Amino acid sequence: MAAPTQTLGDLRRQSTRLRPVKQEIRDNLVRKLQANERLFPGIIGYEETVVPQLVNAILSRHNFILLGLRGQAKSRILRGLVDLLDDQIPVVPGCEIHDNPLAPLCAACRARVAEEGDRLAIGWLPRDARFVEKLATPDVTIADMVGDIDPIKAAQAGLNLSDELTMHYGLLPRANRGIFAINELPDLAGKIQVGLFNILQEGDVQVKGYPIRLRLDVLLVFTANPEDYTARGKIITPLKDRIGSEIRTHYPTTRHHAMAITRQEAWTDRAGGLKLDIPEYVREVVEEVAFQARGDRKIDKRSGVSQRLPITALELVVSNAERRAMRNNEQIVVPRVTDLYAALPSITGKFELEYEGELRGAEQIARDLIRAAVGHVFGGRFEGADTRTVTEWFDLGGSLPLSDSSAADEVIKLTAGVQGLRELAVRAGLPPGAPAPAVASAIDFVLEGLYAQKKISRNEERGYSANDEAPRRPSRREEAALDDEIRMPTGKKKYYN
Ligand SMILES: [Zn+2]
Repeated sequence: MAAPTQTLGDLRRQSTRLRPVKQEIRDNLVRKLQANERLFPGIIGYEETVVPQLVNAILSRHNFILLGLRGQAKSRILRGLVDLLDDQIPVVPGCEIHDNPLAPLCAACRARVAEEGDRLAIGWLPRDARFVEKLATPDVTIADMVGDIDPIKAAQAGLNLSDELTMHYGLLPRANRGIFAINELPDLAGKIQVGLFNILQEGDVQVKGYPIRLRLDVLLVFTANPEDYTARGKIITPLKDRIGSEIRTHYPTTRHHAMAITRQEAWTDRAGGLKLDIPEYVREVVEEVAFQARGDRKIDKRSGVSQRLPITALELVVSNAERRAMRNNEQIVVPRVTDLYAALPSITGKFELEYEGELRGAEQIARDLIRAAVGHVFGGRFEGADTRTVTEWFDLGGSLPLSDSSAADEVIKLTAGVQGLRELAVRAGLPPGAPAPAVASAIDFVLEGLYAQKKISRNEERGYSANDEAPRRPSRREEAALDDEIRMPTGKKKYYN
């Protein structure tokens, strides 16, 4: 290993190449492609769609924009670009715009290089420090984005300025020799877009009427909601023209991909906690809630349903199961599908409602989604299963007072007399000798599945009179009424009957 490069003289002797950032990123990408390395680790389900387009944009040295709805990993992809930068680059120490010692832009650095020459000490900038991110909002100013000058100093320096000595740098110059990501580009005011365009196009910009020359070296990347981006007048045409590639993102196309993302992102590995075992059907139902929501006409399609919905829902599902296990002194935590009702706080804020949905209310919509999701997953797993012996038990007047805080042993004891229920629970994927909390969870899945398929009914509070009810199937009208009145707040009793 050569001695660390410490001076401008060292750099000059190594004949270090002057490489624009887009070329640097391209070179590193080329090397990864040739080595068959996995690109964008942690990004799941985009291998055949988004990633190839990203690769092409980078190979083409384009500025690009990711167009997609919320929760489609857009910001994450942009942050992942950091992996394509060199580990570190030489800079003039202390320079706010990370000037290249071989070709400094700012007057101060040029003066230092002229004065100190080969003896100039250089610094090294790690790649993490070369990513600047900004969420666009209508109140972002040119001063925030490009910078500001002191008009008095500027006047003293002379009208024909083009001198940065008086400049206070904004975010974009500070991203010099790096990546500048602007999220939600359409929210940026038109005149700021003009400023961005001028920098891109000419390397010149006007600040408070004074022309400033900044030949920045930046990879510009953006995100936007597709509808906002294409709406007339939201993006000034010349800026749009300078964005080399528009790349569409999307939600996971399969439940399998979606589950993999949620498994990766959700915080379930809780050190110091009890042993956790999340049944596969619980993961499926959590994921299916998002799929149901994305297909629901009462939910606004233009804003989408974030993948953060299943991620945060799974976290609350696990927490509710933890809470139950601790309260009942159980040593193993096994979430149940009905724990999803305790996850409503993570669901109701993750979508925007259409008018029809607003009439029904976010909470009721969320409950409908959970029920539909359970029904869907249950229907898939139990296709062709004979559930009659179980439903007959209810038809004959049986009822089960259960709640999401019921201990596993209690669930098992209360349901012991229901013929055929245990067999169905095994079919849910219960291994032989499974611990009580796993058995209880499987039983819960079967009961909630039958309820979702309207083969049995469920209510709370009113349900305390369930034993007095005549042993008959509820009429269609009653069932419809039940659908509207199902309420199952955490800890409240619910009855299957
Ligand atoms: Zn400088």
